Amino acid sequence: MSFIPYSRPVLDAEEINEVVDTLKSGWLTTGPKVARFENDFKEYVGSSYALAVNSATSGLHLALEAIGIGPGDKVITTVHTFTATAEVIRYLGADPIFVDIEADSYNISPKEVEKALIKHQNVKAVMPVHYAGQSANITEITKLAKKYGVKVVEDAAHALPTTHNGKIVGTLSDITVFSFYANKTITTGEGGMITTDDAELADRMKVMRLHGINRDAFDRFTSTKPSWYYEIVAPGFKYNMMDVCGALGIHQLKKAKHFQEIRESIAKRYSDAFIGLPVITPILVNQNDIHAWHIYVLQLKLEELTINRDEFIKLLSERNVGTSVHYIPLHRMPYWKENFNLSDEQFPNSSRISDRIVSLPNFASMTDEEVCIVIDTVKSLLLEFTK
Ligand SMILES: *Cc1c(COP(=O)(O)O)cnc(C)c1O
Repeated sequence: MSFIPYSRPVLDAEEINEVVDTLKSGWLTTGPKVARFENDFKEYVGSSYALAVNSATSGLHLALEAIGIGPGDKVITTVHTFTATAEVIRYLGADPIFVDIEADSYNISPKEVEKALIKHQNVKAVMPVHYAGQSANITEITKLAKKYGVKVVEDAAHALPTTHNGKIVGTLSDITVFSFYANKTITTGEGGMITTDDAELADRMKVMRLHGINRDAFDRFTSTKPSWYYEIVAPGFKYNMMDVCGALGIHQLKKAKHFQEIRESIAKRYSDAFIGLPVITPILVNQNDIHAWHIYVLQLKLEELTINRDEFIKLLSERNVGTSVHYIPLHRMPYWKENFNLSDEQFPNSSRISDRIVSLPNFASMTDEEVCIVIDTVKSLLLEFTK
């Protein structure tokens, strides 16, 4: 029996042909394919601007830079995320204020966000993560942001397509950033997209995305300056997306909803199959919203089992099922823990949950047989090790 990987991308003939077309065109870097991808994406989420970047990490960095985050500033975020969410705060010399998650959705707790807003000086922004593909409580968070005069930057690396109260994630706050890393909901290999409705923020991010080159001077079609002329207005970054990646994105985006539907049906099969076993299956906060199902997280009821989570993962792997853990929370990572004096007691929900969770394979190219094998393997292990 062959190993079922945790994730595997779907790349069809359309993607391959589009990349070949790009290679044959001789234009590899940012060009017509990226422009098309940005336009399609803008229409998809209904935002005024969409800026393609070489990763979500660079997108988040540009977003925080554009809203003016700098040394001495503080940004509130969740501890239950990938380090990229928080590291970009440090890129700018600012400090993260970590808060705990909700026990049901594993998303950042608005209550904890408000406590942090009251307690800390110099907070300039809140960065929620739409954990696993279920939207964080953006209604509450944007309300708090308005009340305390701070900005909101959404880490939507898991959230395409995701809705919050019926509205698609991408236009719900100041800036939203998506990821197209190889295992994300759609992929360009490496890549990301920033969306915003704010013209000034979009302008700043566009300039900073490519070396601080002033676009108006650079745009040879509208500028009165000669085509070789450009101006540097800031020490910018090199965060543009290649056309090779844009070529993939154009076709992946068209399948985003289809991929989501497959992942949702796999998630439903998992949750139905695990009823009555010593586990907590994913909890939907709003039944009417779209969950991107980027990650299917199973929580073990350790009190009812004779093995722990690590042993469970090892046994699954020995029985050819690949898994992952989302996440080892940041308060347990040496850098964050030591430099920001973090401990388990400050984040009871994240600490408790992260000892108990395992992410099962859930990707659009999973075969029916693979889904059945995962279900049978998980079920038989849980039955075998129930107290
Ligand atoms: C993947 C991921 C990122 C980083 O995305 P890249 O495109 O790899 O930079 C950021 N935040 C979260 C929550 C992620 O899962």
